[in-house]
Amino acid sequence: MMNFLKKYLSRDDFRFVMDSIAEAEKETIGEIRVSLVYRRKWKERNRTVEDLALEDFHRLGMEKTRERTGVLIFVLLSSRELRIVADQGINEKVNSGVWEGIVNAMIEDFKQGNYKNGLVKGVGMVGKVLKEHFPRKAGDTDELSNTIEVRE
Ligand code: CA
Repeated sequence: MMNFLKKYLSRDDFRFVMDSIAEAEKETIGEIRVSLVYRRKWKERNRTVEDLALEDFHRLGMEKTRERTGVLIFVLLSSRELRIVADQGINEKVNSGVWEGIVNAMIEDFKQGNYKNGLVKGVGMVGKVLKEHFPRKAGDTDELSNTIEVRE
């Protein structure tokens, strides 16, 4: 584990969040990923969290799912900024206000220093939305890794 991460999540917390992704994906063809970034790099200082989240979505190849059902939960830890980016298959059905509601719920936990709860809650809420609009079908596969992406 990278050193900065210990301020936010224990090794067990980290594992727990990954398990919650696998759990949420059991009910849907959707794919959830979590990306944790410690802070903006100097060259990113003028970029919004939205820009960085979109960039990460593509860097991680999340637009490559069959039905365009990837959802990224992107967190800038040091500034407690957070965005949820969904692929176009989902955006056709789910209003962006839904993601804002989830972001706000997660930030409440982050403010109290409870990053594990915030992340698990967010993953669970995203999973519910996906289940409603994109229920699991026969032959569904795990298209994107459940591993949490971490970078400084
Ligand atoms: Ca997955």
